Amino acid sequence: MRIFTDPAKLSRWTEARRAAGAKIALVPTMGCLHAGHLSLVAEAKRRKAAEIVVSIFVNPVQFGPGEDYERYPRTAKADIAACRKAGATAVFMPAPAAMYPAGHSTYVNEEKLSAGLCGARRPGHFRGVCTVVAKLFHLAHPHFAVFGRKDFQQAAVIKRMARDLDFGVEIVVAPIVREKSGLAMSSRNTYLSPAERESALALSRALEETRAAARAAGAAGIPWAPRRRRIAAALERAGMKTDYIEAVDAETLEPVRTLKPGAAVLLAAFAGGTRLIDNTEI
Ligand code: AMP
Repeated sequence: MRIFTDPAKLSRWTEARRAAGAKIALVPTMGCLHAGHLSLVAEAKRRKAAEIVVSIFVNPVQFGPGEDYERYPRTAKADIAACRKAGATAVFMPAPAAMYPAGHSTYVNEEKLSAGLCGARRPGHFRGVCTVVAKLFHLAHPHFAVFGRKDFQQAAVIKRMARDLDFGVEIVVAPIVREKSGLAMSSRNTYLSPAERESALALSRALEETRAAARAAGAAGIPWAPRRRRIAAALERAGMKTDYIEAVDAETLEPVRTLKPGAAVLLAAFAGGTRLIDNTEI
């Protein structure tokens, strides 16, 4: 497995591999890798990529003021070992100054799908995500890139960006990997105390209950407003502070008033100081 820190060297290598006919997959991450990330590598393998490039980069541009950029867990050594074991063929771990040299002043903005949900709560977040992913697409020359459904809005925004800007990169979205308890795996789970981890179970429980109720109602679905109140109450009982609870059309991310097939429920809530997100599709 190759390890790149220099963007230009990665670019030269992936370009040569692509010219030689190798199918290239990109798996963008911020590191502190867990089974959720590694499932994306497995998906790339399943799709017969000859080269699987995992990028590990805590992207400063997607963090807002007062967010956890400085304290975000950085576990490079363990991440490299995990990538090797999972079957990645290259890891790209650039320094922030290599990705954003002095004078960097160009950003990519998706203006519709990124407006609500996490975009409304974290101004500038998706601008940072789109910018870094655009750069990674240019540097890794992938045929396809694998993202997790855990970041539901992010996957939609990236798909739109790839289409709108003609990247020619197929966007693959893989299912959410959960702990046995139901908690969606996240690098930020490392922040949780045992009591907060217990509270956080309310997210997946509320989503599972909601999904089951909506599915039981079939094509007609169930009204969202009372469900929303029920989820809010469940999160509050568990000691979580709600950031948002929304039901949207899974394609357009426009709010819906009925939970039926084609809708998705997206949650963001704080367990202590840690902001967690989760979602389910009906
Ligand atoms: P991150 O390192 O948090 O930026 O995540 C990198 C990629 O891994 C994103 O595409 C995430 O959606 C995906 N990912 C993170 N957690 C999970 C999970 N529990 N299941 C599936 N994919 C995940």
